[in-house]
Amino acid sequence: GATIGILGGGQLGRMLSVAASRLGFKCHIFEPGANPPAGHVADAVTTASYEDDAALRAFADAVDVITYEFENIPTSALDLLETLRPIRPGREALRVSQDRLVEKEFLAGLGLKTAPFADVASRADLDTAMETAGVPGILKTRRFGYDGKGQARIMEVSDADAAFEAMAGAPAILEGFVDFSHEVSVIAARGVNGEVACFDPGENVHRDGILHTTTLPARLSGAQRTDAVLLAGQILNALDYVGVMGVELFVTPKGLIVNEIAPRVHNSGHWTQDGCVVDQFEQHIRAVAGWPLGDGSRHSNVEMLNLIGDDMDQVPELAKDPAVALHLYGKAEVKAGRKMGHANRVLGAA
Ligand code: ATP
Ligand code: MG
Ligand code: MG
Repeated sequence: GATIGILGGGQLGRMLSVAASRLGFKCHIFEPGANPPAGHVADAVTTASYEDDAALRAFADAVDVITYEFENIPTSALDLLETLRPIRPGREALRVSQDRLVEKEFLAGLGLKTAPFADVASRADLDTAMETAGVPGILKTRRFGYDGKGQARIMEVSDADAAFEAMAGAPAILEGFVDFSHEVSVIAARGVNGEVACFDPGENVHRDGILHTTTLPARLSGAQRTDAVLLAGQILNALDYVGVMGVELFVTPKGLIVNEIAPRVHNSGHWTQDGCVVDQFEQHIRAVAGWPLGDGSRHSNVEMLNLIGDDMDQVPELAKDPAVALHLYGKAEVKAGRKMGHANRVLGAA
């Protein structure tokens, strides 16, 4: 059988490994950190830095196709790996999603609605940006932000100095605040032959900048549902994408606004494990392996609850609930803000 190489050994790599193994593939993880969650389920793990060319070469030699669980893979490693094996999703998806400014320009270039945004390379830029993108707004680092990290809110103009300091010299963008009623996301997939399949949009609630729950079905009109799925397909096609992507959307009276895209399986797609015949992890493996895709249809309504830090205390109670499926990541140490697992509560037939 073929071997799938996965860059990154966190919980997403772990759940991708489980799905790959269920389809008869072998899995090889590349991860700089010791004792990664994916290490317990994968067939092989390379523990090495992304600067270690020899380790990258040996990893590529051992696999048939390379995919990843996070978008911030160093460019130098990708430059080497792409000469050795196919990388799916491809470089263009990474280039676009690694930088919030490039991403916003790409989305706007497709004619999709985004928050008003402006480049902030200097303190003087921020003054201009507050006029063009608006206040209140959120200053965000262009690169490396996740779970609301690398962001500072500007509620009034006098917050500008503190927000700029918080970026610690990193290039940033200012986004005008979007007045949304709620947040949804589409988990979409595209195969090697260009076929597209989308899961139904889920409704997301964040707490302290981190995803808290995803609920299916989302509160959306039929027209909004169609719009969400069509715009996701447009993004995938524009990138000649192969794999699963998460598309985060704000729902507003003026339509759907794209917040950001993630070129990988996505936390807001974990509900598919207990709501669909083919979940997002199997879907991603099918796509990168060149298989036909599952159609994305949902057999059950689900509420996904993230278990973050001390939320793990709820596990004994959740385990008694016959409607709940637990997915725990096997992380040795509980830390505040760390994603330890999730619980999918099946709400009934869809
Ligand atoms: P993730 O973990 O999803 O990658 P992130 O750190 O990349 O998160 P964003 O998705 O940009 O951060 O923002 C986190 C949350 O902050 C959003 O889900 C939304 O609730 C809020 N938010 C972000 N940008 C805006 C905006 N322009 N207007 C209003 N709310 C926003
Ligand atoms: Mg993000
Ligand atoms: Mg986000």
